[in-house]
Amino acid sequence: MIEIKNLTKKFGDIIALDNVSFEVNDGEIVGFLGPNGAGKSTTMNILTGYLSSTLGSATVDGLDILEHPNEAKKMIGFLPEQPPLYLDMTVEEYLNFIYDLKDCKLDRKKHLEEICEVVKIKDVYGRLIRNLSKGYKQRIGIAQALVGNPKVIIFDEPTVGLDPKQIVEIRNLIRTLGKNHTVILSTHILPEVQSVCDRIVIIANGKIVANEKTENISSLMDGIGRLQAQICGDTESVLSAIRKVSGVRVAQFVGKREAGSSLYLIEGEAGVDIRKPLFAALSKENYALIGLESAGASLEDVFLSLVSSKDKEKKSKKSSD
Ligand code: ADP
Ligand code: MG
Repeated sequence: MIEIKNLTKKFGDIIALDNVSFEVNDGEIVGFLGPNGAGKSTTMNILTGYLSSTLGSATVDGLDILEHPNEAKKMIGFLPEQPPLYLDMTVEEYLNFIYDLKDCKLDRKKHLEEICEVVKIKDVYGRLIRNLSKGYKQRIGIAQALVGNPKVIIFDEPTVGLDPKQIVEIRNLIRTLGKNHTVILSTHILPEVQSVCDRIVIIANGKIVANEKTENISSLMDGIGRLQAQICGDTESVLSAIRKVSGVRVAQFVGKREAGSSLYLIEGEAGVDIRKPLFAALSKENYALIGLESAGASLEDVFLSLVSSKDKEKKSKKSSD
């Protein structure tokens, strides 16, 4: 459905994208994940025809975005990082304006009503956009992307600046839309792509560093990352016991908890499951481990484990050659 091939983008001396290639299949929800400044927005802006590339191409359903901009753009609905809202319009005026702008041929009233139903903005249809909450504004941004019923929808950091409740609502909406659209979700938030996407493409410093089914990346992250442990005993002694466990990279005191216990944040080395040795070491010294849960892997953890697993692959390939 979407093919990005050898995209390179330079802004003066800055190489924002360096030979980026990936594909998105029909019906997939793909997460485009990377830290700030990685090149996500640049890629999405090129793919949607807002920006030209220095080298390489982007095609939608076989149509090159530069050679056939009008047809290709018709197939894409885009929610940019800064949604292009006109604050002095009502929601109704704005969506009608977008309808005209996109030269939409669908039944106007019915189509706009359907969109309002899906993104749940019926109750603010007559209101000025200026007066709406950030969560509603984001929904209206999504509504404009849906006008014309494009096959592909692209979201660039759709949950930035929203409160936790709004974040859940927007993620659910993206999941719903993913049922009958091809979706690219560009974000720097790891749990966001894990919870929503079939496949994850990771970009760092303008280069693609991974392109995997979500389940594969999740398994890569199993047993790694950061743990929160609640342990009874004198803080300094407990910390030094934790630090002696092989595979522990960092141990930090978080705070006092009930019954003489404290909470600690413990990070293992990439790819090492430290839970069993940690438990064994603590029980040997009679420090009761009364709580242990994953603190969630960070994006850095994933990078590290991806890089180290790729190194291992290379080494085992070399040794088998
Ligand atoms: P992301 O969306 O992943 O945070 P961007 O695609 O916005 O990253 O930016 C990638 C790199 O390109 C960054 O180093 C950024 O500073 C640079 N960049 C983006 N847009 C411009 C621009 N218009 N002019 C100069 N540099 C830019
Ligand atoms: Mg961005």
